Amino acid sequence: MSVPNSSIFNLFTIGIGPSSSHTMGPMKAARQFVLLLENNKEYDRTVRIKVDLFGSLALTGKGHGTDKAVLLGLSGEQPHRAKPNETEPMLAEIRKSKRLKLTGKRMIRFNEKDDLVFNYKETLPAHSNGIRFTALDDNGSLIRRQTYYSIGGGVVLTEEEAEKDTPLQDAQSLPRPFSSAKELLEMGEKHGESIYEMVLVNEKCWHTEAEIREKLLHIWQVMQDCVKIGCHTEGILPGGLNVRRRAPIVFNDLVSNPERALRDPLSIIDWVNLYALAVNEENAAGGRVVTAPTNGAAGIIPAVLHYFKRFTANPTDDGIIRFLLTAGAIGLLYKQNASISGAEVGCQGEVGVACSMAAGGLVAALGGGNRHVESAAEIGMEHNLGLTCDPVGGLVQIPCIERNAMGAIKAINASRISMQGDGSHMVSLDQVIATMRETGKDMKSHYKETAQGGLAVNVIEC
Ligand code: SF4
Repeated sequence: MSVPNSSIFNLFTIGIGPSSSHTMGPMKAARQFVLLLENNKEYDRTVRIKVDLFGSLALTGKGHGTDKAVLLGLSGEQPHRAKPNETEPMLAEIRKSKRLKLTGKRMIRFNEKDDLVFNYKETLPAHSNGIRFTALDDNGSLIRRQTYYSIGGGVVLTEEEAEKDTPLQDAQSLPRPFSSAKELLEMGEKHGESIYEMVLVNEKCWHTEAEIREKLLHIWQVMQDCVKIGCHTEGILPGGLNVRRRAPIVFNDLVSNPERALRDPLSIIDWVNLYALAVNEENAAGGRVVTAPTNGAAGIIPAVLHYFKRFTANPTDDGIIRFLLTAGAIGLLYKQNASISGAEVGCQGEVGVACSMAAGGLVAALGGGNRHVESAAEIGMEHNLGLTCDPVGGLVQIPCIERNAMGAIKAINASRISMQGDGSHMVSLDQVIATMRETGKDMKSHYKETAQGGLAVNVIEC
């Protein structure tokens, strides 16, 4: 069953790095296109598929692994199933033979030089992450052409769906419909429910409570596995920047000097940094991560959840569930009213949103009420407004990896500031979401995942 777009499980998907919009989205779109050919009985006539990348997908696609993702998607791979150790040999074979098996069955020629085109100077109208597939028969005649948009967090829309501009159209039919934080707060008062309880009521339209719990704990388990792998994997990250993995170094330092924590209470910050670095280094290496809500910002929620589990007084599984349900509600607000795509609004839409989600989630996990959740989520975004996306070399490494560590610490701080007050505050979450959207619109395209501005042009690649 496909995940409804107003479900929180659309925000927390399991896949591979380094990017939800540039890796997972294009992989899904490529597979979707081949399935479209199959469903229309056009598959057997197809001898060539030409792929065009536009906008940010073209400009940072090489660094983000979009080319590899397209080859894998055409071959039938899916982000949640792809195993990095199996896909590399598959890619090597496609590139060597210049042939690929469409959805693993029908062999066609595929010469990347001619069949995968990076249109660096062209952006399609609906979104900066556009991708177009063209299927041709053996006379070179057109069989089918379809454009998709990868709108963030691994979500893919067809051109027709993108034009409708109603991303959460199923939301209003839910028992607890909401499209703003104000509505959420009012509904909470009316029903005497917490935000996480209202989200649970909605999710029960699609799953039993036991299934929801199991799915959320599975997400948490994947996050923990990712941190563990990141802490124990040494080496240099791929892509040519020669960025050394720091998580194993920090991990070894922390476990070999436990007494330091007795002298330095800020050691907790080192641990939180470690969790985020571990996830984002894994992501940069193409490992398995949970989008939360994107791959580039995948480290913040796991880091804050680890903080909750390891450093707070009563870290139960129920707290983890409250955290994820609440963070999911906050993420849905951004998805509906702004964007979670760095190519659309800059890094405020990725790291900023993850920070806001984690701040509100942590308050809920610690037993805070709806007003405190809303306040924490607002603070989490307010101090990320204007954050640009300018990845060096088009890779999800600098500034992305450290930025997740900073975002995690900021989220914890936002939750503490919020819980020290009575929940009242000047700026509402709705206002900050609207501000983020407007700021993103005003931001020059150079700062929106194009690697044409900021650090991307001021840091010399060696
Ligand atoms: S700078 Fe932010 S938005 Fe851009 S790729 Fe890195 S994490 Fe994603």
